[in-house]
Amino acid sequence: MNKLILNFKSNEFKKLKNPKEFLGGKGVNLSRMGKMGLPVPPGFTISTKVCDLFYKNKKKLTKKIVNSIKNELKIIEKETDKKFGDLKNPLLVSVRSGARVSMPGMMDTILNLGLNDKTVLALAKKTSNMRFAKDSYRRFIQMYSNVVMGVESYNFEELIENYKLTKGVLLDTELDENDWDGLIQDFKNVVKDKANKKFPQNVFDQLYGAVSAVFLSWESNRAKIYRKLNQIPSDWGTAVNVQSMVFGNMGSNCATGVVFTRNPSDGSNKIYGEYLINAQGEDVVAGTRTPQYMTKEARKNANAKEQSMEESMPKVFKQLKKILNILEKYYKDMQDVEFTVENKKLWMLQTRSGKRTSKSAVKIAVDMVKEKLISKKEAVLRIDPNSLDTLLHSTLDEKSEIKIIANGLPASPGAASGKVVFSSDEAERLNGMMQDTILVRIETSPEDIHGMHAAKGILTARGGMTSHAAVVARGMGRPCISGSSEIDINYENKIFKTSNFEVKEGDIITIDGSTGRVILGKVPTVKPEISGDFSKLMSWADDFRKLKVRTNAETPTDTKTARDFGAEGIGLCRTEHMFFDEDRILSVREMILSKTKEDRNKALAKLLPYQKKDFIEIFKIMNGLPVTVRLLDPPLHEFLPKNEKEINDVSKALDLPIKEIESRINELHEHNPMLGHRGCRLGISFPEIYEMQCKAMFEALVECKKKKYKSIIPEIMIPLVSTEAEIKIMKDLVVRVANRVKKKNKVKIDYLVGTMIELPRAALKAKDIAKHADFFSFGTNDLTQTTFGISRDDSGKFLNDYIENKIFDIDPFISIDDGVGDLIEMATLKGRKQNKSIKLGICGEHGGDPKSIKFCAKIGLNYVSCSPYRVPVARLAAAQAQLIKKN
Ligand code: ADP
Ligand code: MG
Ligand code: MG
Repeated sequence: MNKLILNFKSNEFKKLKNPKEFLGGKGVNLSRMGKMGLPVPPGFTISTKVCDLFYKNKKKLTKKIVNSIKNELKIIEKETDKKFGDLKNPLLVSVRSGARVSMPGMMDTILNLGLNDKTVLALAKKTSNMRFAKDSYRRFIQMYSNVVMGVESYNFEELIENYKLTKGVLLDTELDENDWDGLIQDFKNVVKDKANKKFPQNVFDQLYGAVSAVFLSWESNRAKIYRKLNQIPSDWGTAVNVQSMVFGNMGSNCATGVVFTRNPSDGSNKIYGEYLINAQGEDVVAGTRTPQYMTKEARKNANAKEQSMEESMPKVFKQLKKILNILEKYYKDMQDVEFTVENKKLWMLQTRSGKRTSKSAVKIAVDMVKEKLISKKEAVLRIDPNSLDTLLHSTLDEKSEIKIIANGLPASPGAASGKVVFSSDEAERLNGMMQDTILVRIETSPEDIHGMHAAKGILTARGGMTSHAAVVARGMGRPCISGSSEIDINYENKIFKTSNFEVKEGDIITIDGSTGRVILGKVPTVKPEISGDFSKLMSWADDFRKLKVRTNAETPTDTKTARDFGAEGIGLCRTEHMFFDEDRILSVREMILSKTKEDRNKALAKLLPYQKKDFIEIFKIMNGLPVTVRLLDPPLHEFLPKNEKEINDVSKALDLPIKEIESRINELHEHNPMLGHRGCRLGISFPEIYEMQCKAMFEALVECKKKKYKSIIPEIMIPLVSTEAEIKIMKDLVVRVANRVKKKNKVKIDYLVGTMIELPRAALKAKDIAKHADFFSFGTNDLTQTTFGISRDDSGKFLNDYIENKIFDIDPFISIDDGVGDLIEMATLKGRKQNKSIKLGICGEHGGDPKSIKFCAKIGLNYVSCSPYRVPVARLAAAQAQLIKKN
């Protein structure tokens, strides 16, 4: 068995398969730095295994462990030539928690442990610095009493503040040894009062208390919540690091600081950080004193007077710079480093991979390839595909001042400002007048598509991350905040209220869809810069991936955007979206409300030129790439007139009494539209609708061919098929229309016919269906709904309960569920068995989700299709899926 406690210098950790698991991130990196020959204060790591034993031993340290700790302390004593609890030359230590991954929910570090009423005097004598000794002691009492004994820190801060007031000083640094001495007495009294216990004077009691407190903090509420949010297993446990203290608070030759090896916000290869002279531990981040810059350049740029470290401690600074270089070369990544300078001697206290913005992540990865630190493959694997989202949208200029009036869900990233409007028509009207708007609705419906297009951003009071507003906005790349329950909308008065604001129609607001902030007034935004680095990284990704990436698009704008983002075709063109346009909806309504086939054909004839024109535009943009066109899918009543005015308009156009129209609307009503008269069922009942759509498409194709756009092969997709007969009848229909157009125009037309697999029966019977299909496209939104029997639009009410009760790890409408995945895999195998060359892909929201993309790569699909703004995300995720598959 491994030793349970390891000295930083022990070589035993090299034998471990997964050292982080055993020693935690902080411990492993301290060991590594030590072995690189860097100056690390001596210490040891109590492993996560001990945490396990601690809990098994009724939350107490076992005798064996206590003895091992004593032994390890002796080793440090030798290394430092100091003694724990000694009255001449006392050893002080820090006790630091360290889980496998950095966890802000865990215990705070305790510094200066080993001080008591006697050792503090020894320390003073040894260092000839009474103020320093007393300052260290009071810090220790504050930290220990708070973390181990549960005395809240404001008790101590209050005492310090009151004391400074009576003394008439502002800064802690203005307090001298006598001041601290008095305060130490007060602190001890507070501890006795609040904790009903004296502050421990025995240094070993202090140490065991601190180590136990770290273990106990693993089960604290803070840590539990953090684990839940970040999916960290509760059985990992934490390690504890005990390390001899070095002092940055001994005078003006001392300092402490935090530094990144590169700039974490823009990625430039310049060190970036802050330090403070005569300070300890968290002083730099605590905000009690303003920290100073590391480099002269940074200080000058900020117009700051206080010397940079480069200027105040040039020698140590040079040494630190060298070490940062060594660390980067070793870890092959940007590092976030803690250091302390004690009497001009530099000590390294921590290193870890530094957190960074997406922009800098991309730049750093590409730069490191140029510097030959990492390979292209490593660069591609290093970027979180989801993080690319923020690079593709405008963001708020964070330098400007803002007034937040409400918050909601960050449903679709990006920032937008505009006049508040409460209806889609108003958004469209103002858009016509070149005015920017934010569409504010309680929730949105398919009727709002035109308004969502016209508005610069969307804000809804209801609905989750997969609500209509959220899904459509993401698809369009419009910033959106959904479910902002803090806003109370009154459509009639054209006003919305928050707890303390009132916003009228026409007032300007800004929404930040990346964070969910609703802000009063216009905030300047920064345009996304798709820099050279970004496209370079994407081109590397393209070299690695096998999976093709297509897009879901039906408007020329979306198609163009997607192609610019690297889409390799359209995987889903929803023809019904073309029906909602203002100048066509009336004809659509005529078509639906017609009683006879004759009337219906008349209305369809009016629609044909519109559809044809749309197809021509899309074909031209996608020239050379495949375009999958799905025939009409939603239940017809979605297109019906909803209000009096609309009913009146239709009545006039059709010359039908209002009553009759109303009764037809009633006839079309369905109890379960999602499972009703939709998809190919419409094509079976009203073949003339699909015939018109096919005719429009083939005629568009002929026209494109005449105009030199030659290499277009449309893929016609039949929705909602569940039986072999359905696909056969529909395919015959497509072939019939194609032959007619071919004959009339005397040109050759190539096309494919396939189906969406979005019903469990279709997956089960994939072999039969594949007899008539050139391709399958898995419609995973509907397939998820129908496999679970859960309606996505209603799932918001209970989905959270399902996630809380761990029934779902993750919303199955975001990442493909493995049951739905089984159906897809089965249909893939059956389809290929019947038809070796069948093309397989997915469309639906999952096509842009990295986890689902990994699944698609694993089962060998040919492509994924996602909304235009997800295309780069999918390209990167597909490359990673391929690279991981190989490993
Ligand atoms: P966190 O995980 O919150 O960063 P750390 O354990 O790194 O906590 O410690 C908090 C602060 O105390 C850091 O600034 C660190 O550099 C400092 N610190 C920790 N151990 C020592 C030590 N042995 N000597 C001096 N400073 C230390
Ligand atoms: Mg730290
Ligand atoms: Mg569907």
